[in-house]
Amino acid sequence: MDAGIQPWLFHVEPYAGESLSHFLGRFRRSNHLTPGSLGQLAGIGAVVARWERFHLNPPPSQQELDTLATVVGVSAERLAEMLPPQGVGMQWTPIRLCGACCGETLYHRMEWQYKSVWQCDRHQLKLLSKCPKCEAPFKMPALWEDGICHRCHLTFSAMRTYQKSAD
Ligand SMILES: [Zn+2]
Ligand SMILES: [Zn+2]
Repeated sequence: MDAGIQPWLFHVEPYAGESLSHFLGRFRRSNHLTPGSLGQLAGIGAVVARWERFHLNPPPSQQELDTLATVVGVSAERLAEMLPPQGVGMQWTPIRLCGACCGETLYHRMEWQYKSVWQCDRHQLKLLSKCPKCEAPFKMPALWEDGICHRCHLTFSAMRTYQKSAD
């Protein structure tokens, strides 16, 4: 038995500006891992589930990012970019989104949770902070697999028509 061999894992390429919660959820689903089993594989214990909920206090340590990096095949620097930049105020609830952005590529952008951000500059639309049809809050990004409201099943991309203009 060769104890040094890493298990084969499916590589998941991060999107520009993707939040850690969304990336970890994608990586886990691609590899059929629970938050607990990913943490175990990386040797970082139970923190994965907390990070997916954006419970980032205390923030991930350099050592945790280094070991997670070896498992997910993405550099620790790139993982750190999925976390809030230093000095930027964040608001983790409610989870917000731009339906037009989700229609282009479905993923949660970290900047949507910046306290200072209320609109999508790309589409000049105000961000949504709940389902515009049934008012259900959005689930944490790690669970966004289908890109639909979990209650009324409206797709995130179809929510674009409900978004108000930013000006
Ligand atoms: Zn947008
Ligand atoms: Zn809904």
